[in-house]
Amino acid sequence: RVYGTAFPTEEELLAYLAKIEEAKRRDHRRIGKELDLFSMQNEAPGFPFFHPRGVVILNTLVDFWRKVHIQRGYQEIKTPLILDQDLWIRSGHWDHYRENMYFTEIDGRPFAIKPMNCPGGILVYKSQLRSYRDLPLRLAELGVVHRHERSGVLHGLMRVRCFTQDDAHIFTTEEHIKDEILGIMEIVQYIYGVFGFPYRIELSTRPENAMGEKSLWDRAEQALQEALEDQSVEYKLNPGDGAFYGPKIDIKIKDAIGRAWQCTTIQFDFNLPELFDMQYIGSDNTPHRPYMIHRAILGSVERFFATLLEYHGGRLPLWLAPEQIRILPITDAQNDYANQLQTKLKELGFRVDVDSRNEKVGYKIREAELQKIPFMCVIGKKEEADGTLTLRQHVKGDLGVMNFDEAVKLIREQA
Ligand code: ZN
Repeated sequence: RVYGTAFPTEEELLAYLAKIEEAKRRDHRRIGKELDLFSMQNEAPGFPFFHPRGVVILNTLVDFWRKVHIQRGYQEIKTPLILDQDLWIRSGHWDHYRENMYFTEIDGRPFAIKPMNCPGGILVYKSQLRSYRDLPLRLAELGVVHRHERSGVLHGLMRVRCFTQDDAHIFTTEEHIKDEILGIMEIVQYIYGVFGFPYRIELSTRPENAMGEKSLWDRAEQALQEALEDQSVEYKLNPGDGAFYGPKIDIKIKDAIGRAWQCTTIQFDFNLPELFDMQYIGSDNTPHRPYMIHRAILGSVERFFATLLEYHGGRLPLWLAPEQIRILPITDAQNDYANQLQTKLKELGFRVDVDSRNEKVGYKIREAELQKIPFMCVIGKKEEADGTLTLRQHVKGDLGVMNFDEAVKLIREQA
């Protein structure tokens, strides 16, 4: 069998080839290696190893995510990675997802490693009697999940066997569902605004094999649709494309070369509250079933990290750069001055290193450029005597000689 790809014009062929070249140049696996951020090893296929600089980026992402959510009334939980097999039988994962799960045994009792965080969140909900006054309850979890993927489909950090979901489960009464969806959409717009990704929204509604009352579906779909329309965002409607257990909104981001990656999902669930007999006591003093919404904004933190690397071609914005500023003394004689500058910059919260190796400054600059360090402070005899520094910016080059405060101001402005 022979495959061929043909193009109507030479321009289209060249554009296609350029896109492939660009994709190779921006491949996060290549950038991850060049910038020493993470690696994959034979000892754990599909399970990434994050190196110190990669962890700085991941932690910065997570700190940002946490701040955004705590400010908006989410409470963070942490549930076990290993849970009783019976729980997964009850949740339906045993019947529908077993092939993708890892199992183990403790003292002769069968357990599974969680592929999803939902049952853990439900057990936290059920750990006490809930009243309508406790709702909406927004339980967030940066949950590490393990899923078996065939070795052939593994792809860097995009397709792995272990990743962190920026998950949350919202349990609410019917009257709050629209506000909750609006709240999630506000977070989406805020977070995507910060990263500058263009995105596409899709709304998927009731399929043929839907479970749960039609009236529940109608109210949930209406809440999703109204929230989107209130914010006057454009979306594509996929009638009948929802999961069997509830309607959902999916958001895909487009990367720098136009490929779409699934990140955000906002998913109603009418199934799990039934299977786990979840309840709250209403204002009428009788038990009711809460609405349950699963939602993840970044999706997989690791995949989002890879998308960021590809989108920026490794040139991360200052706030995410693992090393934000590098100080380059021209000779050993300036090492003390370099260390003083480093201390002062660190006190201001910057991540700063000093390159005190016995190398020519041109060599040090080239290396810092290759490592995509956003700013460099070059200091020689003259700078030391005057208490100044020469600031350089990645790609842009020399920004001139200035004093410490001027440099800090410029760095903050250009960030
Ligand atoms: Zn869930």
